Amino acid sequence: MDQPVYTYHIDENDVIFYINEEYIKFAVENDGERLVKESLGKPIWNFITNGLVKKLYQELIAAIRKTKESVKISFRCDSRDRMRFMQMEVFPHIENGVAFHNILMSEKFKADGYTPDIIAILGEAGYPMCSHCKKIKIDDNWFELEDALKGKLLQNKNLKAHYSICKYCNNDLKNSIEELKMKVMF
Ligand SMILES: [Zn+2]
Repeated sequence: MDQPVYTYHIDENDVIFYINEEYIKFAVENDGERLVKESLGKPIWNFITNGLVKKLYQELIAAIRKTKESVKISFRCDSRDRMRFMQMEVFPHIENGVAFHNILMSEKFKADGYTPDIIAILGEAGYPMCSHCKKIKIDDNWFELEDALKGKLLQNKNLKAHYSICKYCNNDLKNSIEELKMKVMF
C-alpha cells in the first residue's frame, strides 16, 4: 500500500511546526493551500473555532501526551466533487509534541446538488454542521447532507449558524479520551 499520509506536527506549545508535502498537495486540491501554508508557526487552536470541539481536542491531546499512546479517529474532508472518508492517527512525538497523520480510507462522488455552493448557502441559512463528519443538524437530528438534499429536508428552515460536532463524533472522541485515561490508571 502506497497511500499518501497527510501529516502535521505540533510542538509542546501546540504550535504547528511541520506540514508534509503530501498535505500541502492535498490542500491545493481542496482549495485550502493558503490556509495550510499560513497555519505553519501558529497554534492549532487558531483553526478549531468551536468551543466544544476545542475542549475535546484539548483533552485528547493532553491524554496522548500523558499516556504516550496513539488514537485513531474517523472524519470527513471533502473536496469539490468528492466525499472523502478519512482516518486520523494522533500519536505522541518527540519533546512532548503530537503528530497527526491522516489517510484517505475511501471516497465517493457527491450526488447532484451537493456542491460547494450548497454548503455556502447552508452556512448562511444557518445549519449547524459537524466539523468531523460533515453531518448537518435539522431540528434535533443529524443528517448526511446528501440525504437531507434528497429528502428535501432543508426547506423553510432558519437555524443558527455554526460549526459544531454531532453527538456521534462527540461520543467517539469522548470514548477515545476515556480509553486513554484508563491506560494511565492501570
Ligand atoms: Zn459528526
